[in-house]
Amino acid sequence: MQLLDALERELSERAASGLSRRRRVLSGAQGPRIVADGRPLLAFASNDYLGLANHPEIVAATREALAQWGVGSGASHLLSGHFEPHEALEHALAAFIAPCEDARALTFSTGYLANLAILTALAGRHDAIFADRLNHACLNDGALLSRAQFLRYAHNDVGALARLLETTRARRRIIATDAVFSMDGDVAPIAELLALARRHDALLLIDDAHGFGVLGRGRGTAAELELRSERLLVMGTLGKAAGVSGAFVTGHRVIVETLLQTARSYIYTTAAPPALAAGLLRSLSLLRDGDALRAHLFALIERLQHGLQGLPWSLLPSRTAIQPLIVGGNEAALRLSEALWQRGIWAPAIRPPTVPPGTARLRISLSAAHAMQDIDALVAALHDAHATGDARVA
Ligand SMILES: *Cc1c(COP(=O)(O)O)cnc(C)c1O
Repeated sequence: MQLLDALERELSERAASGLSRRRRVLSGAQGPRIVADGRPLLAFASNDYLGLANHPEIVAATREALAQWGVGSGASHLLSGHFEPHEALEHALAAFIAPCEDARALTFSTGYLANLAILTALAGRHDAIFADRLNHACLNDGALLSRAQFLRYAHNDVGALARLLETTRARRRIIATDAVFSMDGDVAPIAELLALARRHDALLLIDDAHGFGVLGRGRGTAAELELRSERLLVMGTLGKAAGVSGAFVTGHRVIVETLLQTARSYIYTTAAPPALAAGLLRSLSLLRDGDALRAHLFALIERLQHGLQGLPWSLLPSRTAIQPLIVGGNEAALRLSEALWQRGIWAPAIRPPTVPPGTARLRISLSAAHAMQDIDALVAALHDAHATGDARVA
């Protein structure tokens, strides 16, 4: 069959350029110490930034909720799938993050669906979406699906964005950005972006997948700066620092009601299991009281940054749990990741198209569940891989 031949050729070309991806199979719960493909490893490979993915209180709350609410939600939210725990979670999230007066929240099964929902419901053919070049794929996909004009500006370049906004004739304007960039770990200039949104009567959508739970005492990147505005829409995910699954958006009640009424990826999909919402309520209270977890996480980050001096690879400047070690070539990044794997450490190589060509990297992600000694083990393994030349490309 012609299609199969063509696909097979494309797959081998992908493999030849060092771009093939593979999955590792985990034999236990997420955490710093895992068994993947049968191998015990110290892992720096998840987004479980506060170590809540296997937290006993969240597991217990979810288990109890399973007994009460069953497993499946049975329907979409607008049909008959909206349960008391979903409703309570929305209220708790809106109150916790409070991006403006009169904030409401809506939850989704995944962050991908949330961004599709927000951008397609709020923007259309006569509108424009202004997006940072390093935004997460699902913000880009949402923008494309909305059929709005899609204008991308250079990473964190507020001046370039201002020039685009000055010349636009779009009916509505939405600025969309990751708050913490998922492969770089740096933070968007949210205050400047909000000022531009005010000047140009635009809406600012921030995707706080990696800031929620970590920055602003858990309330996220905008809360850290004490920014509040009815033009601010905060989206966050619940499968990263919150340790469970799902996503939310919170903002002015009129915007949120519009999403509920019209967003297709909200309306035409089955609601997440109510037991997950119950687990998330427990997770949210751990986040709220999580200053000790965050303090430990920030201490780990500092220790890693100190330990990696003197290596040929350098960390991007990041004060978040995402600590990318830039290697450069695809093959070199794979080699380094493999050298660590041989030493019992999992730090995944990230290659194009997820990151720009020539900037392949190890995406080291830290978790409050790591111990200081875990960081020391990673640092020692990197120095050893360098000293022995194991990571060198032939
Ligand atoms: C992970 C992620 C998403 C997607 O969230 P899921 O719940 O995993 O679908 C969206 N945006 C950013 C920036 C992310 O890192």
